[in-house]
This record gives sequence, structure tokens and C-alpha cells, in this order.
Amino acid sequence: DMRLDGKVALVTGGSRGIGAAVAVRLAREGADVAVTYQRSQEQAAEVVARIKEAGRRGMAVRADAGDGEAVRTAVREVAGEFGRLDILVNNAGAGVLGPVEGLTLDDVDRVLAVNVRGAFVAAQAALAYMEDGGRIVTIGSCLAERVAFPGATLYATSKSALTGLTRALARELGPRGITANLINPGPIDTDMNPADGPGAEAQAALTAVGSYGRAADIAATVAHLAGESGRYITGAAIAVDGGTNA
Ligand code: NDP
Repeated sequence: DMRLDGKVALVTGGSRGIGAAVAVRLAREGADVAVTYQRSQEQAAEVVARIKEAGRRGMAVRADAGDGEAVRTAVREVAGEFGRLDILVNNAGAGVLGPVEGLTLDDVDRVLAVNVRGAFVAAQAALAYMEDGGRIVTIGSCLAERVAFPGATLYATSKSALTGLTRALARELGPRGITANLINPGPIDTDMNPADGPGAEAQAALTAVGSYGRAADIAATVAHLAGESGRYITGAAIAVDGGTNA
């Protein structure tokens, strides 16, 4: 049973791509859903409209995942507005690829701030509201487990930190009935990694199935983890990568 009736979810980076698909899917499962975004206000509003079409409450809050105070404020606003918080989906992420020697200190700081610090702070803030049955789902990358092409040092560094975060949270929160899991996607057709973009053919060739996945493929696994169906899954890293790391 995946119905999320009565639950409240927060999806970071929910204005486009995987986060938007997750937000709409959770609403269709019955949850009230808030999304954060950084720039795409109009698209965030469209996602809220789709949440409302599903018959649920929706809201969008501008909060840069790299700004810890903004993340904390957003979590507080959502819990205040909706009266509780059950499901956190740490999805906001920055992808900076390129040869290691070309990366600036600013690149390093920015990617770690958004991908690692942002997820850490959001989890920490959300925990203040979560009760038994709480769920933390973080979107990592299959590059956390295996790096099959050059140019991913910074991104893979950031995404593999989420493995430690997830496992440690699972240990700490198990007694409270809260689970923490990681989903490691392979190539998913979004603005960040379009299936017709440069390098897409090579990424598709690395999968076992020979093609890109869809944002909805990730959303389906989030829904599984978020519901009662996920109650005995915690501390896990789940590959949804078309067999990239097979
Ligand atoms: P997109 O670039 O298509 O969408 C990113 C979303 O995150 C947008 O809604 C964007 O909002 C938001 N966002 C980006 N930076 C920030 C920030 N600093 N603060 C708040 N929101 C932010 O990316 P995807 O949907 O492809 O990726 C989502 C997650 O999945 C990321 O963590 C990514 O690393 C991971 N992933 C993606 C893969 C892929 O192949 N697509 C593969 C493996 C992992 P706004 O429009 O306002 O900027």
C-alpha cells in the first residue's frame, strides 16, 4: 500500500526534472507536497498547480540549497503551513563536470554546499518535525558507486558523501521509526542531462538496457520508499540506473 493520505512531503529542487516528477507522484499518492526551487519560479508554480489538480495542498518556496539558513527557513515554513512534515526528498543538486585541474575553489565550494551541505541541513531541520513513520529519501548518483568516464571528480565526491549521510542517519533514526535511503540514478532525461545532449549516446551505452531513464522512474522508487511499503528499508542505496553499475 503506497497511499500517502494525510502525509506532508517536502521535495528540494522540485521545479523541474526529477524533483518535479517526484512532487507530482507523491501528491497522486495522497500527500500534500511542498517544493523548493532556486530560479524557476514559474515552473515551480506549474508544479504546485499539478499538485492541486491531484486534489492536494501544494506550495513552492524559493530556497537555495547552498544557503543553509534559507533551507532551514523553508523547512520551518512548510511544517508551519501544513502542520507537520513526514517525507523529505533531498533532490536539489548541482552538476559541475570537467577535468579536475580546471575546477576552481568556488566550483568545489558550490557543489559541496548544494549537494552535501544542503542535504545534511535539510535532513537536520526536517527531523525536528518528523515522527514515527518519517522518511528521508536522498537522490544521489550511480557515480557514487562507480565512475566509468573522466570529468566527474567533484560531482562523484559530493554524491558519495550522501552514502555516509544516509547510512548514519538510518542508524541514528531507526529507533524513532524514521527511515533514510539513497536512490542512485543513472542517466535520466532532464534539463541537466538531456537524452539528446552531447555525451548522451555514451551514457546510454554504459547502461545495460541501452537507453536513458525517465524522471518518473525515479519518482516511482521514491513513492515506494515513502509509503508503508518502505517501512523495512533503511540505510539502503538503491540503484535506478538501467544497469549502469551492473
Ligand atoms: P535538473 O537540472 O533538470 O533540475 C534540477 C532541479 O533542482 C530544478 O528544479 C532546480 O531548480 C533545482 N535546483 C538546482 N539547484 C538548486 C539549488 N541550489 N537550490 C534549490 N534548488 C535547486 O536536474 P535533475 O532533475 O536531472 O536532477 C535532480 C537530482 O538528480 C540532482 O541531485 C542530480 O544530481 C541527480 N541526478 C540526476 C541524473 C540525471 O541523469 N538527470 C543522474 C543522477 C543523479 P531551479 O530551476 O529553480 O534552478
